[in-house]
Amino acid sequence: MGRAFVYVILGGGVAAGYAALEFTKRGVSQGELCIISEESVAPYERPALSKGFLLPEGIELVLGTRIKSADVRRKTLLTAAGETISYKILIIATGARALKLEEFGVSGSDAENVCYLRDYNDANRILNLMQSCAGGNAVVIGGGYIGMECAASLVINKINVTMVFPEAHCMARLFTPKIASYYEDYYKSKGVQFIKGTVLSSFDIDSNGKVTAVNLRDGSQLPADMVVVGIGIRPNTSLFEGQLTLDKGGIKVNGKLQSSNSSVYAVGDVAAFPVKLFGETRRLEHVDSARKTARHAVAAIMEHEKTGEFDYLPFFYSRIFTMSWQFYGDNSGEVVHFGDFSGSTFGAYWVSKGHLVGSFLEGGTKEEYNALAKATRLKPAIEDLAEMERQGLSFALTV
Ligand code: FAD
Ligand code: NDP
Repeated sequence: MGRAFVYVILGGGVAAGYAALEFTKRGVSQGELCIISEESVAPYERPALSKGFLLPEGIELVLGTRIKSADVRRKTLLTAAGETISYKILIIATGARALKLEEFGVSGSDAENVCYLRDYNDANRILNLMQSCAGGNAVVIGGGYIGMECAASLVINKINVTMVFPEAHCMARLFTPKIASYYEDYYKSKGVQFIKGTVLSSFDIDSNGKVTAVNLRDGSQLPADMVVVGIGIRPNTSLFEGQLTLDKGGIKVNGKLQSSNSSVYAVGDVAAFPVKLFGETRRLEHVDSARKTARHAVAAIMEHEKTGEFDYLPFFYSRIFTMSWQFYGDNSGEVVHFGDFSGSTFGAYWVSKGHLVGSFLEGGTKEEYNALAKATRLKPAIEDLAEMERQGLSFALTV
């Protein structure tokens, strides 16, 4: 027994929701479109997406259902319960999974006070633990997005936080040492402690299965009432390995988000797509690219000839405590910092091969962020880095 659909979206996260939105805008008939998600809740950003227009338009929501194998030649998906679902066009929006400590040789991920953060269930778990450890100690493993954002939330909830990560500074994949040091100083002023350049080696776990302390490779030990781990992700590609071309750890797609099989598209964190601006294939792990790849894929599916190549300016952002930053483009080449690093508005430009390729701003206004995005997309030639530094933000405002 099985069911057949014209369009199947595999995955129920951000990209899946936005693909569904685009389908409904363009018009799909009752029963034509199906979303399959392992999660038991409708795609994220639910207030708008699930209630507003997903369900009334007759989209089949197959929730709590894990796909365990896919056959792209036969155009079928097999659910864990044994049902076959067939499609004419498949959109892969399987996102990514959090990397586990076990993958770095440390056991203890299943302890009751060790948390990861990827989905709704994880978030609820952290919330419950946070409530039960007010005034206690949390160890945050990883100095990336999850580490920084969770550390801020824990502190706001009156928990003592120590962050542990292997690099010399936080957000090492994006921040310069100077930018990182601003945020680290701010975190320190809120009581967060940083232990850098080392990783954990083991947990002390009591007879109830709870972690009581974190042992570090440098020999030190940190008491812990809870542990939050954010050590990166891996795209969920395993269903398609050996069937579709992979790149950058994800599913390689062209400028129409179409994979090496013309009936299969990939969007969101799992897609490695050409970024025209840099002439390179990239896989991005951010919500803006999930939304936009999803919309473009659906446009390409429904109006293939009319839809051009995806032309995307990478955009990342975060909000922590009262701070807020945005980044556009690519953080390669030479860096020009500007603004007041002892105040609340500062930033940086990245210049590669004589052109502006990336920009970062903390504490900007909407107009300033828009100007930054516009300037970065234009990739203006830069001859004098010192002059650019002197102009600072007004450089972007006047490009
Ligand atoms: P996901 O949203 O991960 O969705 C993947 C879906 O596929 C899930 O529903 C999953 O259950 C399902 N799935 C996977 N495999 C199967 C299978 N075999 N069978 C059935 N279903 C399957 N980005 C930003 O730019 N700004 C932010 O502030 C920001 N904050 C974030 C905060 C958190 C806590 C997290 C975890 C991420 C954040 N991100 C942020 C990143 C952003 O959420 C991701 O880039 C985005 O979710 C990617 O969307 P996606 O649809 O590709 O994947
Ligand atoms: P990140 O890739 O941002 O950061 C992972 C961090 O963990 C890095 O500092 C990494 O160091 C470090 N690390 C790796 N291995 C270890 C280890 N064994 N012990 C300690 N530290 C280690 O991933 P996150 O987990 O923080 O985030 C997961 C995903 O969620 C990402 O895709 C991110 O983009 C997304 N996200 C985005 C947000 C946003 O855009 N605002 C907010 C929240 C999540 P190294 O670099 O050396 O590997």
